[in-house]
Order: sequence, then C-alpha cells, then structure tokens
Amino acid sequence: MILNFVNGGYREGTAGKRFPNIDPCTGRLLMQVSEAGKEDVDDAVRAARGALSGAWGNLTLVQRCDLLYAVAAEIDCRKDDFIAAEVADTGKPRALAAHLDIPRGAANFRAFADAVRNVPTECFTGTAPDGKPALNYALRRPKGVIAVVCPWNLPLLLMTWKVAPALACGNAVVVKPSEETPATATLLGEVMNAVGVPAGVYNVVHGFGPDSAGEFLVGHPDVDAITFTGETRTGAAILKTSAEGIKPVSMELGGKNPALVFADADIHAAIAGLKRSVFENSGQVCLGTERVYVERPMFDKVVDALAVAARTLKPGGPEDPEANFGPLISREHQSKVLSYYALAHEEGAIVHCGGGVPDMPAHLRDGAWIQPTIWTGLSRDSRVLTEEIFGPCCHIEPFDTEEEAIRLANATPYGLAASIYTSDVNRAHRVSAKLAVGIVWVNTWFLRDLRTAFGGSGKSGIGREGGVHSLEFYTELSNVCLKL
Ligand code: NAD
Repeated sequence: MILNFVNGGYREGTAGKRFPNIDPCTGRLLMQVSEAGKEDVDDAVRAARGALSGAWGNLTLVQRCDLLYAVAAEIDCRKDDFIAAEVADTGKPRALAAHLDIPRGAANFRAFADAVRNVPTECFTGTAPDGKPALNYALRRPKGVIAVVCPWNLPLLLMTWKVAPALACGNAVVVKPSEETPATATLLGEVMNAVGVPAGVYNVVHGFGPDSAGEFLVGHPDVDAITFTGETRTGAAILKTSAEGIKPVSMELGGKNPALVFADADIHAAIAGLKRSVFENSGQVCLGTERVYVERPMFDKVVDALAVAARTLKPGGPEDPEANFGPLISREHQSKVLSYYALAHEEGAIVHCGGGVPDMPAHLRDGAWIQPTIWTGLSRDSRVLTEEIFGPCCHIEPFDTEEEAIRLANATPYGLAASIYTSDVNRAHRVSAKLAVGIVWVNTWFLRDLRTAFGGSGKSGIGREGGVHSLEFYTELSNVCLKL
C-alpha cells in the first residue's frame, strides 16, 4: 500500500480510507493508496511548521543547499526505483521517464540550490533628509509552510519543480500529489530521510480534491502559500479558497498551444518538433501543441509528413521494447479525449490519421489507449479548437500572412506556450514579441533552461516559476533601510 509521509514517517490515513491506483496500460489494480484525512493534513502542516522553527530553520544557506545536492544525488542513485514507480503510475514509455521525468526531478534540486546561492537581492544607496547617507538592501525570508498541489502528467518533474525552490528558500512543504500518480512523491520521502533532511520539511498527503486531502490542504489556515499545477477550473476553485486567507498563489494551468509553421521553415525540423509537441507523453503535456497553423504553400506537405510521423508511433506497454507511445492516464481521461474525437467527426473534420482507439493485444485491452490523431477542416469556433483536450491530437489549418498567423495563435483565452518554425530570424523575433504567451520556442519545443521564466498568461495561470522567479514566489522580500 502507498502511505502518507508525515513528519519523516510513513503512515496510514487516520480515516482508514483507501483508493485504488490503476495501471493505465492494463486497467488492473497496481496497489491501494491510503487516503489522508483532515487529521493527517493537520499533522503534516504542524510538522512543517515545527521544522521551520527547528533543525531546518537553523541551517545555514550552504548547509541547506548541500542537503538539496544530496537529494539530487540520491535520486540519481535510485533512478531505477523512480523510473519503475513513474512508469507503473503513468504507463509512459520507460525511455521517456528515463531521459525526461526522473533526471529532471534530480536536476530541479541542483538548479534551485544553485539559484538561491547565486541570485542577489537589490541594494540602493541614498540620502536621508539631513544629508546623511542611507543604505537600503533586501533580504529574502522563507514564506513558511507551502501547500504543493500537483497533476499527473509529469509527476516527479512538476512536483520537484515546486518542492526544490521551496526548500532551497528555506520553506517546508506539504505535497498533495495527483490521486492518479502517488508513487514517486511517496518515494521521495525515503530520499529525504536517507540524506538527512529533517523530519517535517517534506510531507506527502494522498487523496483527491474536493472534500479530501487537496481541499483540506489548500484551505488549511496555517498554510502560508499555495503552489498549484493543474486544470484551469481547479485553479479557479483553489483561488476562491485561498482568497479567504489572503494566501499568495502560484498557478500553472491549462493551455491550447499553437505552433506556427512558415513556408521558409526547415520542414524536417518542423515535423520533428511537431511530432514531439503533439504526441510526446501521449499529448499529455501542458506545453503540447493542439493547434497547428501552416503557411499555405507548405500546408499539404506538413499535414502529410506529420501523419506519416504519427504512424511511426507504436503503442505498447513499458515491457515492449519497440513501443514508444503509452496510454492516456486513465479510462476517464480516455473518455474525455474520445468525446473530442467524436465531436470532430460530427463537425465534419477530415481525419488524416487516428481518430479512435488502437487495437491492442488482449492483456492491454482494458488500458486507456488512444490513437494519435490529426484533423483538418474544422471551423475556428469548434470546441475542438478552443478547449484544452490534453490528448495526442492536433488540428492543422492554413494561413496566408504573418498577421493572420499571429491573430489565429492568439485567438484563445489561454496563453501558455507557442512554437514558431521559420528560417527568417527577423520574423522569429517579430512574431515572438506579438504572441500572448509565457513561453515561445523557435524551431524547437520543450527545450528548457531552468533559470528562465516559466508560466502562462490569461487562463494559463498566474505568476512565473524558474530561476529567480521561483525565488520571488517562495520568499518574502524584506527591505532593510539603515541611516548611516
Ligand atoms: P487537476 O486540476 O484535475 O488536478 C490537479 C491536482 O489538483 C490533483 O492533485 C487534484 O487532486 C487536485 N485538486 C483537484 N481539485 C482540487 C480542489 N478543489 N482543491 C485542491 N486540490 C484539488 O489537473 P490534472 O488533470 O491532474 O492535470 C492536467 C491539467 O494540468 C491540464 O489542464 C494541464 O494543462 C495542466 N498542467 C499545467 C501545467 C503548467 O505548467 N501550466 C503543467 C502540467 C499540467
């Protein structure tokens, strides 16, 4: 059974409730998960508060960073355990977990230990009214107890993207992983204990959102800030709860990301980029592309080449060495994605590949499998083109001018990420500046430098994470003014 991790120890939830952790490849039960009740969340928050005024709060910055480097090294050491846990929970190909999820989990701890040591605060010299000098400088103080609420698509990567900077800044955390993917957050508790992170600094409570661990945690009066990654609708619910206590929030929400392919683009780079951005992790990446706009002379070529690329994806379980395309996270999510496939069909889309569920061998038939899918011909107001689907699918539409491409790219309430494929460097800069998104990639996708700002505008979120931006969120800045 997967247990909660509170104050450095593993324990069953006090309410004695359990929920199943299902293998998305087979539909079979992997393990039971012990659900945290209100009392467990209270204990976790209390343990976190205690750590702040105890051993953890008394460490120097260098000692704290050394512990975080040790956490990273221990994740590397135990990478096979982490890969196995992530693959079991998500069904994603082992190669993807091995080159993306788990190494990034370790890298997050190193990156934020580096950031907190190297990013200075501001300092101004000035003059007091009597002509004497005054010195102002800023200090970063930890915010306190941070509630970390995470999604299921990149479980360890996205969770450590919050936990690492929070701890680097001296906070203590209570994590509520997704109910779909409880394993790696739980395993990280062992790592924390192994390297000597004091009890109470890192806590994990399992459960759902409403009337469960998620809601108990974000509504807890002794939590000082909330950092959330997940659906826009959930973000809105958490914002309402946080308003009561005037809690600072960081919100990384959904997207409906565009890719713009200009006629001067290197088609091979464009197709390689689109193949990843539309289909990687079975389309379950917040930064993934669901709308592709192609300059008309290149349109047919891109549609055909991307359909060819999609057909090279081989669905299969992690035990299949040739498989490079996993299932969706759950049968529930599969139904949601299939409802958009059905809507596209009803609305007369031309389906260039996919459109349904692949024929799988008997032992995988109850898994959440789905076909990579490409449409053209839908009207611009179709829900398929305006709502986040979070599946391995995209709609491709031609455009004639740069202005039209920008207008189409910006035509949703989301504003997370966009990619541009062009060999004209002036155009790349010009168009990037006009896209109403937090992240633009040119001739690539999901190439991350952890020092850079990450986040979205509009319905894609509030605030930025990464490098100094995470330090801003996870600390309170105090200005000290001295009259000399
Ligand atoms: P979700 O919103 O359903 O759940 C996220 C987490 O919130 C889960 O742990 C869930 O239990 C919890 N939760 C749900 N309701 C809650 C409530 N009322 N109070 C407190 N906690 C609650 O999201 P998901 O389905 O797990 O993840 C997919 C979504 O996440 C997509 O929309 C995707 O775009 C988004 N996402 C965004 C980013 C980003 O960086 N912007 C990254 C990854 C995923």
